Amino acid sequence: MLPPQMIIFYKKNIDFLIEHAVDPDKRRYLVAAEGPRHYIDLDQYGEYPYKNLPRNWDSAVQVFSADSLQKHGVVPWWILRMKWRLTKAFKEKNRTAILKISADIGHYIADAHVPLHASSNHNGQYTNQTGIHGFWESRVPELFATKEYDFVIGKAVYLAHPEKFIWERVLESAAAADTVLKTESSLNAEFPVFGKYAYEERNGLLVRQYSTSYSAQYQQRLQGMVERRMRQSIFAVASFWYTAWVDAGQPDLSKISDEEFSISELIEWEELNRQWQNGPKSERTCSN
Ligand SMILES: [Zn+2]
Repeated sequence: MLPPQMIIFYKKNIDFLIEHAVDPDKRRYLVAAEGPRHYIDLDQYGEYPYKNLPRNWDSAVQVFSADSLQKHGVVPWWILRMKWRLTKAFKEKNRTAILKISADIGHYIADAHVPLHASSNHNGQYTNQTGIHGFWESRVPELFATKEYDFVIGKAVYLAHPEKFIWERVLESAAAADTVLKTESSLNAEFPVFGKYAYEERNGLLVRQYSTSYSAQYQQRLQGMVERRMRQSIFAVASFWYTAWVDAGQPDLSKISDEEFSISELIEWEELNRQWQNGPKSERTCSN
């Protein structure tokens, strides 16, 4: 949950946000530097919690060189750069920039919460589990998210140490990657061979998918991990947006460019204000 004027501002521009949420993935085909911004292969840096990898970019460059950091992915550092850019856009009250960067940072933060975005075995290619990337991040949520997942989260929090915060999330992803892979491999060993995949029609084509029963088993064995990571990701995105806005001096979003809030939006603002003041605290009380 965001402060009222932020909710209304983003809601007003929801179509833009949705449309641009996938821009970073589109850019991957156009810009070589884009790819590494979506992941970090933490297992390339020894054992969890990868103490020999400095969390600070400049220090990390000194130890590993920018080239090799780029090679293994830079998502946490890139999110911090986006946070800086978002703060700047808020300061400048640049509506288009705020929305574009909000969509971008939302994408990268979501990626950082996906366990396989923190492992070099990102599509199970080393363990004969090719396809597991999309299985975890697309197929399982597509089957179960709308009906079963609860995306109501508490208040966004101010991140006094965004660097520490995002590194903790990325480390959680890295720690979970093993479970994501091992759970699938043991399910695969026990599941009837002919039940694993099913053919479904997509845009007039038959495509092979992990079957619904296989997906349901997988999600059950993961004990709510997909939902939990998605919830944490939503909380993190809201908190990064909120932190950037606060760091920019809480500019009045109802007066940004020509897009003033309408009367009905102002009424909604009042109502949201009440909710924000009395609203539930976030479950992740943020010390970092
Ligand atoms: Zn991505």
